[in-house]
Amino acid sequence: MKISKKATTIAIVNQKGGTGKTTTCENLGIGLAMEGKKVLLVDADPQGSLTISMGWQQPDELPTTLSTLMAKTMNDQSILPGEGILHHTEGVDLIPANIELAGLEVSLVNTMNREKMLKQVLEGAKHEYDFILLDCTPSLGMLTVNALAAADTTLIPVQAQYLSAKGLEQLLQTVQKVRRQINPKLKIEGILLTMTDSRTNYGQQIDNLIRGAYGSKIKVFDQTIPRSVRAAEISAVGKSIFQHDPKGKVAEAYRSLTKEVMANAERQLKRVVERGR
Ligand code: ADP
Ligand code: MG
Repeated sequence: MKISKKATTIAIVNQKGGTGKTTTCENLGIGLAMEGKKVLLVDADPQGSLTISMGWQQPDELPTTLSTLMAKTMNDQSILPGEGILHHTEGVDLIPANIELAGLEVSLVNTMNREKMLKQVLEGAKHEYDFILLDCTPSLGMLTVNALAAADTTLIPVQAQYLSAKGLEQLLQTVQKVRRQINPKLKIEGILLTMTDSRTNYGQQIDNLIRGAYGSKIKVFDQTIPRSVRAAEISAVGKSIFQHDPKGKVAEAYRSLTKEVMANAERQLKRVVERGR
């Protein structure tokens, strides 16, 4: 009997911009592919940063993007297998996005089942991939709610330098609300501290502060992502950190994060199987 796959879908969210969502989506995704996993990345941000960062420099010229697929779903049209999916040389697939997604978000308001359009778009892909990673837009609007509705878990990159306790609180409330009303199985994968600087006292203090404030309620990944100029360069070269600076500390960090995420997914899968017995 062929057992069909059931991807683990991870929404990478934080309504604050510049916290490392896109960088994490790309490098965690490619990290998972390097471990032999089949991975689909979804750019769910109208700015198309993930699309650009992966080497498609002109997202506005792409014929099919996430907004095309979501519009089709809204109009009850079916999506062909593989439709709109781009293939990156480092072994991951991508559903790209461009500015049209902003218009689509507005039109969602008058749609039946408006929170579940992205989930429907990904229905077929769920059986084709091991992991689907959603790169969210920096807001808690309808696109992010769609991502949370489609996800199994959420990974929250937090820029260690700037602690916004209020922002985090708001995000956790949104996750709770989605869990209650739309997606009861939604879990929090964990908080990922990004752009850390452990050499300074201040950096260490922030790390301790976040772990102290949230560590009892939510998993804070042991692995943090250090700040490095080499990481900031990758969006311009269309490659992952594993290609751009394979021996550097950021590649090392994403490699280790990849292992942590894989271990979590396996643990989760085992739990589901045991419950099914
Ligand atoms: P978001 O998607 O949350 O807006 P990005 O991943 O785009 O965040 O990162 C914001 C900025 O910080 C980008 O310019 C990116 O290149 C840079 N950046 C991301 N991670 C690192 C890092 N580890 N070290 C240095 N710069 C980083
Ligand atoms: Mg981004």
